[in-house]
Amino acid sequence: MKRNMKKNRLWFVGMSFIFCTVIYSCLQDEWETDNNKGDEKVIVGNNKELTVTAAQQWYEEHNKPVVTVRSVDNDENEILTKPKWEEAKESRQSNFEVVETTLMTNGSTMFMDSETKIRFNPKTDAKRVHNIARMVVIKNLKTGKVCNFIMIFVGTYDYLKTTRTLGKNSYLHRQPDFNGDVYFFKPGEGLVNGWRYRNGKITARISRGTEEGFRMSTTRGTYQRCHTESYWVYDTNCWGDSYFDDEFGWGVSSNCETISYPVYDEVCETVDDGVSEQPVEPWTPNEQPGGYEPPKSNDEPQKGTPEYYKKELEKILPNLSDELKKMDVDISNTQIRFTKEGCSANAQLLSYGNGGIIEVCSNFFNYLSQDQTAILWHEVYHLNNDDPNLVRKPYNFDYDLMSSTPPTILQDVRIYVEWLWKDVVNNDKENLINEDIKYYLTIYTLLPPEHYRHEIATYEAEINNCPNVSEHYRAEREYNYWKNKELLKLSEQNYKNN
Ligand SMILES: [Zn+2]
Repeated sequence: MKRNMKKNRLWFVGMSFIFCTVIYSCLQDEWETDNNKGDEKVIVGNNKELTVTAAQQWYEEHNKPVVTVRSVDNDENEILTKPKWEEAKESRQSNFEVVETTLMTNGSTMFMDSETKIRFNPKTDAKRVHNIARMVVIKNLKTGKVCNFIMIFVGTYDYLKTTRTLGKNSYLHRQPDFNGDVYFFKPGEGLVNGWRYRNGKITARISRGTEEGFRMSTTRGTYQRCHTESYWVYDTNCWGDSYFDDEFGWGVSSNCETISYPVYDEVCETVDDGVSEQPVEPWTPNEQPGGYEPPKSNDEPQKGTPEYYKKELEKILPNLSDELKKMDVDISNTQIRFTKEGCSANAQLLSYGNGGIIEVCSNFFNYLSQDQTAILWHEVYHLNNDDPNLVRKPYNFDYDLMSSTPPTILQDVRIYVEWLWKDVVNNDKENLINEDIKYYLTIYTLLPPEHYRHEIATYEAEINNCPNVSEHYRAEREYNYWKNKELLKLSEQNYKNN
């Protein structure tokens, strides 16, 4: 099912036409100077070296005209952004000078924390619940070094619903009531680091998701406990007319499809003096915490990056191929690669022609080898048995499966979800698991019945041919098999092609 949701999404991307939407709407924000931080003040609008003109010049020499941001397991399906220099602002503190601009993006994309994602109501919250996204160019006046990155403020739901000053947060300044996260992205790559704030004070460090979850480290005698937490990337793919709103910029009139998917970050609950594990290049006055911290260059691909997963896949693929050969499945003509399109399931069949293309997602690497074999077996079965010309146009259909789920399946969903959360250390873990179970037992869209027939046949064959899998994958598979049968019934009764 999830595999196919992703497909739908690609289909919509294909259908949508490109338009520029100014989604990050606090355009008229006025940044204030810091009141009483004890440090040197933030001075706005009076840079000596890195003026707006100098920043733009530097930026244009060092960046492509349109830069991209992508999430952790997402190689090519990127958000395109472009700085809006007319809205650039200067600020400086100590030996750092900063120029920040708002960003124009293609389509509207929102970053939300998981709570906001659950509570977000598109009808009533669309104007209050938004992000601040800026391109930051910064110069260290002492060393003369300049760099640029994308900064995104993501507020908590309650903060966004009540504050009127989200836009006053800036690279050098946090509002005293700021509740939320600030993320720093490297253009063309992904998340570099971030910080969590409660009432304007740092409460956690956010680093790129390692998906290994629990980690302990000792740094300068301090002790840190870390866990993986998800935030939701919320995509709206639209086709149709766009309109312009004086206050909020470009928007879309209708025909929007909303898709969300989680991105996992590692969050460390205790923050020490701001020194992180690996050597980083600090870009803040007096190296205080809260700023952009790119790692000092390192040749090995960083865990959690597409480069890392590509290397991992190279290592395990020969063995998986041998295991499949023992089951009379030949994948020598099939291209198997780490996802370029981005995916949140285990694997997806991307193309049927010329031996087919199967993509594995970052989740794939969390499974045991026998599970990975079964997952690939499943995709190859689709490749050989599905109708390649089936058009999978999704039909919006909200349905709650929870009440009709038999106890054994409910137990299986729980086994699967608990496995997903196994490494997460969080006080609210039980609630989060229950929310996730609800999510897995809710239907948002329907595909044509034929699609579910393919899925049911494939799961049946997989279960018969690949019986030796881990307990959690067995549970995941039983749940998917059952869910597709339920979806088939719903689709036969309700699916409409338009
Ligand atoms: Zn399938």
